[in-house]
Amino acid sequence: MRFLLINPPITDFACYDYFMKPLGLLYLTGILRERGHFVRLIDSMDRKFPDLAQMKEGSYGRGEFYSLYLEKPAPLRNIPRNYKLYGLPPDQLEELLIEENQNYDYIILTSGMTYWYQGLKETSQLLKKIYPDTPIILGGIYATLLPDHASKNISFDYLVRGGFKGLEKLIGIKIPSFSNWPAPDYSDYEEPGYAVVRSSRGCKNSCPFCGIKMIFPGFDFKEAVFLREKIRVFKDTRSIENIVFYDDDLLASPGFKDYLKDPVLGVKIHTPNGLDPEKLDPETGELFRRAGVIDPCVSADILSAAGEKSMQKHSQDLIERSISSLRSAGYRPGEYSTYIIGGLPNQDMNLLEHDVRFLHETGARVRIAEYSPVPGTSTASVLPKELMEEPLLHNNSLYPALKKADIIRFQNIKKIASTLNGRFNQK
Ligand code: SF4
Repeated sequence: MRFLLINPPITDFACYDYFMKPLGLLYLTGILRERGHFVRLIDSMDRKFPDLAQMKEGSYGRGEFYSLYLEKPAPLRNIPRNYKLYGLPPDQLEELLIEENQNYDYIILTSGMTYWYQGLKETSQLLKKIYPDTPIILGGIYATLLPDHASKNISFDYLVRGGFKGLEKLIGIKIPSFSNWPAPDYSDYEEPGYAVVRSSRGCKNSCPFCGIKMIFPGFDFKEAVFLREKIRVFKDTRSIENIVFYDDDLLASPGFKDYLKDPVLGVKIHTPNGLDPEKLDPETGELFRRAGVIDPCVSADILSAAGEKSMQKHSQDLIERSISSLRSAGYRPGEYSTYIIGGLPNQDMNLLEHDVRFLHETGARVRIAEYSPVPGTSTASVLPKELMEEPLLHNNSLYPALKKADIIRFQNIKKIASTLNGRFNQK
């Protein structure tokens, strides 16, 4: 069979390539090719896409996306910020597909954050225009969380929720369990810059603001030998030196811990999703250092949560303990990070500022992850119905769950974090 796989462009106020790759599509490409099917993968967010203007490069293969100004959609009209389309513009995608003049049995379109649906909508309409008779299958996060909204706004024939199980039935191809998936297939990228992988799928925690259980409720992992072999292939055949683990609960993965004991030399490892402080012990810190883990990021998530005790995740003692595991392994202040969630409903800004200062004192760079409501979660259930019904308003850069009076205070706390982080650059 012949498949066209598409990752659409993003529409947002800001977007930067901090290790963004459509990992589900990359794994699916590997699975389908391994079974002998033809796959054409187009990632509209590939910064090195041929004929796309090249933008400023950052560190470790990251960098700026090509972008175009867009007229703001009605719900965002009063927001005094520029709104853009990031990635491959739809007219360039159209030219490319017409020039390639290929036929496909199925088009598989993925989706990301709920508030990015405008780019997805335009891409789906374009695909229907070029391939009116080819079934389009929509999957991904937005499709899983908001199937009814997708049905009203996106052009597709079938919708699959929460992974590959529904897809298997539709296309009639057996998809193995996660532990037997081949490596994500990067052969459609001329210069991937970095490779994103997973050693596990799912998370053993259940945070009230997170939608992971709706996307993948279980927990599954790959053996270290498999990870090692694939990472070696990335390094030797594609010269990829930055490997990014996208795991949601990385330290719960026995395969990852075993991999660290005998890592592929000469690659840098990145862990952008944060590390559970409960599982970061001195032995793990030592393995990180030896395996070349760059900027390990401890998940502080929510430290102080006055009035919302059920939300508090970790104690300061635990954070200090986990960071001392990094320090004793040789990480110096500024060489590791913590992330904390800011902008939650009813969050006390005094406590947030206090937590930011506490985290800085541990020697960590403090990343504030701005809260975006996830439909179907208990944290989002307290938010107004009209906000939850319009995904464009879920955008984290609008601070959707904060009261007006708290927004300026929150912006100041972000500036404080940035100033404190800047001190590490001066040392
Ligand atoms: S630890 Fe992270 S991935 Fe797991 S439930 Fe909490 S927020 Fe979600």
